Amino acid sequence: MNLKKNDIIKLYISSATAEGSGVGKTEDGIAVFVPNSAIGDELSVRILKVKKTYAFGKIEDIIAPSPARIEPDCPYFSKCGGCVWRHISYDEECKIKQQRVEDAVTRIGGISTNFKPIIRSEQTDRYRNKAQFPIGTDSNNNLQIGFYAFHSHRIIDCDDCILQPEIFTKVMQITRKFIEITGNDIYDEQTGKGRLRHLYIRMGEVTNELMVCYVVNGNGLKQEDMLVKMLKDELPNLKSVIINSNREKTNVILGSKNRTAYGADYITDELCGLKFKISPFSFWQVNRKQAEKLYNKAKEYANLQSDEILLDLYCGTGTIGLTMANCCKTLVGVEIIEDAIKDANENAKNNGITNARFICSDAPKAVAELAKEGLKPDVVILDPPRKGCGEELVKTISQMQPKRVVYVSCDPATLARDLKYFEEQGYKTNEVTPCDMFSRTAHVESVALITRV
Ligand code: SAH
Repeated sequence: MNLKKNDIIKLYISSATAEGSGVGKTEDGIAVFVPNSAIGDELSVRILKVKKTYAFGKIEDIIAPSPARIEPDCPYFSKCGGCVWRHISYDEECKIKQQRVEDAVTRIGGISTNFKPIIRSEQTDRYRNKAQFPIGTDSNNNLQIGFYAFHSHRIIDCDDCILQPEIFTKVMQITRKFIEITGNDIYDEQTGKGRLRHLYIRMGEVTNELMVCYVVNGNGLKQEDMLVKMLKDELPNLKSVIINSNREKTNVILGSKNRTAYGADYITDELCGLKFKISPFSFWQVNRKQAEKLYNKAKEYANLQSDEILLDLYCGTGTIGLTMANCCKTLVGVEIIEDAIKDANENAKNNGITNARFICSDAPKAVAELAKEGLKPDVVILDPPRKGCGEELVKTISQMQPKRVVYVSCDPATLARDLKYFEEQGYKTNEVTPCDMFSRTAHVESVALITRV
């Protein structure tokens, strides 16, 4: 069969990609990627694009639905680029995520290890404590606040996102009203002109403290006082209003300068019984309840003894290390964002932790220097961004000969690659536990225990 654009074919969906697309194979072995399909679906599919060994299609008709299918409960599902698993049961979502982690570690890493069942989330909606809504206009100059469409910068205007707390919807409403009243002009990504770019909201789940941040192309907004008053009047838990200046023509959301328009320049929240300060630039886990479960798993893997030294790399505001500091002799944290390091130092102080020191530096550079100083950590925690640690850092860590390495990862593929590097340096992957921090989306977190052989 020679597959062509606009062909209609019958397809059975047998697997899913990391991005959440279903995949079926034609009789000739061509993989066809079909968004919004479910494993077990029997579909009639329209072919949209054909490449040499694979093709893209869209659902024309569902001949027999997968038993895992459910009715999606969000009007924006399949339009906005956020959720990909709203049309299947949570059981099925967990199964897919488990498989994805196991496949990556065994296939990419070539590693055989013990996989624990995914740590499930009790709350699969309204679990996020942070949102970044792009602000723009459509071709008729109508205000659009919402999310980008999948792989695009087209804004899907959105009244409510059910991954976010309801109060964020209120902030969006106030923001819309403020723009209407004051006529503040909206940023245009194409021309780089216009002022208001993004609405960025954070909330402490335990403390209820709310931070609202506006990203502007310039120094401020017209009638900021009115904005603050409107927010204060309707949001009794408002703790901070920040104006972030971003004058660059870039996809990066936040610019480098913050100004506090109201209240404090930070909010606080609690995690594993400790209090944490969170600044606008600092990383903070978006799903607090699941973060606690993840950190408890990391703590179990670290198995710290009172005379041991802990090195926490990519430490953000110090969260993981600080929740374990009372189990070890000393804690050294490394993080590249200066504000996060300031937060980490204050977090240690505010929680009465006196055995911690934090270094603001690029992780590979800091580790090389700490190795030169003769630091011999017993346990190393790694929690890098999606791109992972890389071979050089794994080598330098291995030269310090820690007994245990606990790797927290948000990308199974780079985790698998780095586990392989560790195995090449005389370490073994004992166990991997996936954790669902981002229900209904394609993302999956995992934590791995690696020990020196
Ligand atoms: N462990 C923290 C943060 C994890 S997110 C927590 O659980 O809250 C990853 C962190 O790595 C971010 O804070 C980011 O700023 C930091 N980071 C990114 N690249 C880095 C680098 N090259 N060196 C050190 N830290 C880095």
